[in-house]
Amino acid sequence: MPQLDYDVLIVGSGPAGSTTARFAANAGLRVLMVDKRQELGAPIQCSGAISRHALEAADIVPDDEFIHEAIYGFAIYDERGERTVHDYRRLKPDEYGSGGGKKPLGYVVDRRRFDRHLMTQAERAGVDVWLKTEGLGYTPTPDGRCTVHLRRYNQEIDVSARIVVGADGLQSQVGKWAGLQTHIKITELAGCLQFIVDGVETEGLLEIVTGHRWAPGGYAWVFPKGNGYAEIGLGVIATMTKEPAKDHLHRFMSDSFFADRFANSRILEVQGGGVPLASPLRTQYADNMILVGDAARHVNPITGGGLHTAVAGGKIAGTFLSGHLADNLPLRSDALSAYQDLWLSAVGEKMWKLYDIKTDIFHNMNIAERDSQLYATMSDYFSPTSEFKKI
Ligand SMILES: Cc1cc2nc3c(=O)[nH]c(=O)nc-3n(C[C@H](O)[C@H](O)[C@H](O)COP(=O)(O)OP(=O)(O)OC[C@H]3O[C@@H](n4cnc5c(N)ncnc54)[C@H](O)[C@@H]3O)c2cc1C
Repeated sequence: MPQLDYDVLIVGSGPAGSTTARFAANAGLRVLMVDKRQELGAPIQCSGAISRHALEAADIVPDDEFIHEAIYGFAIYDERGERTVHDYRRLKPDEYGSGGGKKPLGYVVDRRRFDRHLMTQAERAGVDVWLKTEGLGYTPTPDGRCTVHLRRYNQEIDVSARIVVGADGLQSQVGKWAGLQTHIKITELAGCLQFIVDGVETEGLLEIVTGHRWAPGGYAWVFPKGNGYAEIGLGVIATMTKEPAKDHLHRFMSDSFFADRFANSRILEVQGGGVPLASPLRTQYADNMILVGDAARHVNPITGGGLHTAVAGGKIAGTFLSGHLADNLPLRSDALSAYQDLWLSAVGEKMWKLYDIKTDIFHNMNIAERDSQLYATMSDYFSPTSEFKKI
């Protein structure tokens, strides 16, 4: 009979959930993490780009087990193919490179293996994991704890916990259970699609192509995936185009300045999903509950990147909970606002600033201004002097 009484119950075992779980369990809390999927990280809905700094800051040792390819910098293109390159192998040759004590700037990871690696780390820290277990709701109880309602395989089951963590991704239900405002405006939800291809040369850079013509409301990308494979993708905002992302992606491949480069590529896999280019949730906590990762909109509103912020937020959440629960502090909503304050000062204030920049570009400018401003913003964002470097 499984233990039905935990300190922390985490709904969702993506990077945010697993990292929260690991930090909480390392501090001695009894943690259960559940996921409705039966296989972690599948189907893959992510390009897997993450900085080395982000991994190291969350105590994740870069490991060939989950790394597809090392990344050394960025190339940002405007609509016509003019580009700004930040190749850190040239900018800081003593620090970045391969071999000789030099290191990459980041990686493209395999999300299936990355998620499994993070879950294994959590399990080794003592976390219990139940797959094929869906969170259905939770009810705070008079003793200051809560009861979390789950469906494990086909059986409904209640588990008692002191706090529930919603790490249940973009379509999070946990925040809704507590009545939080979690709705994403359609104008802020990017529909993303990517093809895994072969036959496309890459040079250790993340390539980002701006321009309304190719990706209205978002951008296109070409990421190296190792062993001669690449990811070619884009994200678009549905209210800025009448066509689906698939049509934009085919047009980008056949008509853009990269058409010759892509001419011999074969599409081997198709992956897609939604990315919130929205602000962080204004309230990320309720009685006996906090949110982390995509569920709290911890996603960079300019790049759409959510892996760095998922593991950074997971570390903040797990560390916060270990202190808060060890001190037996109340788990009412007002007491949990301290979690959001911590997150805001570590990452969130910069994310709000990025959101304001993004809103200005996409809501206050005409297409020509927007194209030139997005190109300039992206070029600056990835430069070594960017004020947003660590987010
Ligand atoms: C096409 C695409 C490309 C992307 N590329 C990048 C990239 O290159 N770099 C980057 O940084 N970010 C990228 N992102 C964003 C990134 O994938 C997300 O931000 C990241 O996965 C968020 O992690 P998470 O742990 O918050 O949520 P998720 O990874 O979505 O995990 C949530 C988990 O919760 C589970 N779950 C949901 N509801 C329940 C429930 N009721 N009960 C139990 N379990 C539940 C789900 O099964 C899932 O396993 C991309 C996204 C897309 C769509």
